[in-house]
Amino acid sequence: MKKLALAIVAHDAKKDDMADFIAMHEHTIGQFSLFATGTTGARVMERCPNLSVTRLKSGPLGGDQQIGAMIAEGRIDVLFFFADPLSPHPHDVDVKALMRVSLVYNIPMALNRATADRLIASFVTQISMP
Ligand code: PGA
Repeated sequence: MKKLALAIVAHDAKKDDMADFIAMHEHTIGQFSLFATGTTGARVMERCPNLSVTRLKSGPLGGDQQIGAMIAEGRIDVLFFFADPLSPHPHDVDVKALMRVSLVYNIPMALNRATADRLIASFVTQISMP
């Protein structure tokens, strides 16, 4: 059984929300292979030191593009992207590209915590795939 791969990204105003969310669902999320953009990953590792997280580059330095490439290669199964709609982002084009590639490859993508809460619940009994 291959572990499902989960990628997480949170804009600055949403990082606390992401850390809370991951801590609340640590047991379930611990059963995924977990990938994160740099700062989001650091924040989650601080909060959940027992969780294994593969950190990529920071979003503005190419981390969103790395996750997008992994999605295109079939290496990411689920994306939680807690996006902040109220602040400008220097890497806005990368943010849009990541959302676009997630749509192209039809992977489950939660853009806010309300959706992530419901999506993670759907994985509680189905963490691995053949
Ligand atoms: P970060 O990147 O986790 O390195 O802050 C997230 C983003 O803003 O895309």
